[in-house]
Amino acid sequence: MSNLVDALRERRTLSDKGLRELLESDDEGLVEVLHRNAREVAVEQFGKVIWLRALIEWSNVCRNDCLYCGIRRSNPNIVRYSLTKDEILQACDRAWRLGLRTFVLQGGENPPAAEKLAPVVAEMRASWPEAAITLSLGELPYDTYALLRRSGANRYLLRHETANPAHYGRLHPAGMKFENRLACLHSIRKMGYKTGTGMMVGSPFQTMDDLIADIRFLESFRPDMIGLGPFLPHHDTPFRDFPAGSADLTLRIYSILRLMLPQAWIPATTALATLRPDGRTAGILAGANVVMPNFTPVARRGSYALYDGKSRPGAEAAETLQQLKSELDTIGYHV
Ligand code: SAM
Repeated sequence: MSNLVDALRERRTLSDKGLRELLESDDEGLVEVLHRNAREVAVEQFGKVIWLRALIEWSNVCRNDCLYCGIRRSNPNIVRYSLTKDEILQACDRAWRLGLRTFVLQGGENPPAAEKLAPVVAEMRASWPEAAITLSLGELPYDTYALLRRSGANRYLLRHETANPAHYGRLHPAGMKFENRLACLHSIRKMGYKTGTGMMVGSPFQTMDDLIADIRFLESFRPDMIGLGPFLPHHDTPFRDFPAGSADLTLRIYSILRLMLPQAWIPATTALATLRPDGRTAGILAGANVVMPNFTPVARRGSYALYDGKSRPGAEAAETLQQLKSELDTIGYHV
């Protein structure tokens, strides 16, 4: 069976049958071989170095009603907020002084407000010319993507969520279409943004065939970054009673993708660290190479609750950067 891992590492692809075996096997030895090969490939590409990205959760105001998400429009039980320009710049400043060189502005989907972010992005660009500015603001009009790009943003994260349009329809309200998401991803890339996409593992109604289709989608789209974490339920959403996705399956998919796309930036996501306390190091040992500490002002963090347990200290807090460094140290990595 470990021939499957050799084949994947050598050819950077595998049949659907092979992928299914890697995803479903209960042979722990095989899973360890998969993770070991993935981390060897990550170390070949990047060394034993983990890249930090400063996550700034800019706003939880969202026009969408995604059935899984705690900041969906129809959740009346959260306090809505948008950070001011000064709050954003202060968060960047703090991150920069701590040595981080990528700022990630993430928020609910709100096209008019996203457009108003352009001068803030321009100021970030002027203040930190060498920084990477990543945006994750959902589906926006073409002109808004272009305006933000001209203002200085150079990376964009938009998860495809699932590559099966019928499954997409069960996770989102009528009106949100997989084709639109795909069109946005292609526009973003065409504009010269480094592009990231990905999916939740274990989202409601997801089948193994869906996950294999997701892996194939990523294999052919070849994103620069892959955002991928387990689904976690939020108590104020229609999916409150669905079980969380599996950490083990998430880790296998990190490894498979590392072997398929050796150069991709793959964060060990907050959702994984929420599901399991050692999620960050486990992710790295499975081939991830990025961690995104949270630089959102502490008072706002509880309001950016995409799923239950998200703002647990340790899972994401930038305050624990030192703790993160020592965690990485124990597995022989550094930032
Ligand atoms: N509005 C932007 C967008 O749609 O891309 C960015 C913010 S959105 C909240 C960021 C990501 O959070 C989504 O792409 C989704 O995969 C993830 N997410 C939302 N709810 C989640 C949940 N319950 N469990 C795990 N991940 C979730």
